[in-house]
Amino acid sequence: MHRPVKLPIFPKHSPAATTAAAATGAASVGEEAAAGSRAVPAGSIVDRFARRVEYLRISLTDRCNYRCTYCMPEEGVELRPRQDMLSFEELEQLVRVFAGLGVRRIRLTGGEPTVRRNMVELVARLAAVPGIEELVMTTNGHLLAELAGRLREAGMGEVNVSLDTLDPDRFHAITRRGDLSRVVAGIDAALAAGMAVKLNAVVLGGFNDGADDLAALCRFGWERGATPRFIEHMPMSGGQIYQAGQHVPAAAIRARVAGALGETISAEPSSGRPVGPARYFRVEPSGRRFGIISAMSEHFCGTCNRLRLTATGELHACLAWDDAFNLREVLRSGRTGDELDRDLRARIAAAVADKREGHEFQLGGEGGPTKHMVAIGG
Ligand code: SAM
Ligand code: SF4
Repeated sequence: MHRPVKLPIFPKHSPAATTAAAATGAASVGEEAAAGSRAVPAGSIVDRFARRVEYLRISLTDRCNYRCTYCMPEEGVELRPRQDMLSFEELEQLVRVFAGLGVRRIRLTGGEPTVRRNMVELVARLAAVPGIEELVMTTNGHLLAELAGRLREAGMGEVNVSLDTLDPDRFHAITRRGDLSRVVAGIDAALAAGMAVKLNAVVLGGFNDGADDLAALCRFGWERGATPRFIEHMPMSGGQIYQAGQHVPAAAIRARVAGALGETISAEPSSGRPVGPARYFRVEPSGRRFGIISAMSEHFCGTCNRLRLTATGELHACLAWDDAFNLREVLRSGRTGDELDRDLRARIAAAVADKREGHEFQLGGEGGPTKHMVAIGG
């Protein structure tokens, strides 16, 4: 029988501790708060573990034009009714409230964000919200060639494009319907439009984890001026679509990239301000960079600065748990103006007060949420 390998875990979530923390202002909103020894500007949100929330990921839809094997099952993902999707007005209103609480960076994701109708119009509206400094997107790239120029004009500065392999047949197989040539055209169009591009590959043992595969993805990115990144597979979906034997740890990815492309790998020093979950490395002697998102073997929960909003308005403070706070019902409560903003801030504060210290993913596939990655957006 399979015995799960235990990863470092955190104390079990305790509602009593959360309530106490909220009552003492450990998740503070709207007042000067002290995060450990760090002074935090008035109006920011800080959780019980002194992590300041600055980054909101917004899923624009739970629909997707691909069916990646590591993200969703072939069938059986229940789609939410369209009337539950937040409208552009509701999303803009929420982003204004989040910006007032110190959120500076917004990432649009999905499902596939580009299948949301008129999404360029939403980009322009969100980019214009005072306080939002960065508006970026994660996409499978299938529709990017048509959209890139307009996205750039609307205020999008960067896109992350998922690209797991450069082999057209294997690309089609892993995405269950993807077209590699369209994605490559999308990447090139984004670069031509002046956007920064990062490439995300989920590394799966026996599929794309060979030194040659990893090196080819790096070279493809570097030739174009895009940054390659490798993601460890995470056991979402109740572990149902995760295969323990396919997990490839960050240390193995680094060793294979070094073996194929250089002599050594050196970690880039942290800027001190957490931006996203990736850690960056340089291949020496060339100095070329790549990133690794290693939620499993070298997790980064201690510096997590993110919240996640689903397309239907559920606010998740952590990717790895099913806990959620419903902002849609607050938005549709009939209240308006300052009263509505106050209620939204209170619900957001409750979500932040409840943010878990970390995940309990196990290498065997246990410990994750039942939600599918396609529904929350990575
Ligand atoms: N459709 C867009 C895309 O594919 O980029 C955005 C949504 S997708 C859920 C966001 C990211 O999550 C992608 O980079 C994808 O590769 C990654 N992802 C999906 N399932 C994952 C899993 N089980 N473990 C790790 N990353 C995963
Ligand atoms: Fe769709 Fe992105 Fe999930 Fe692939 S990874 S199925 S493109 S949401």
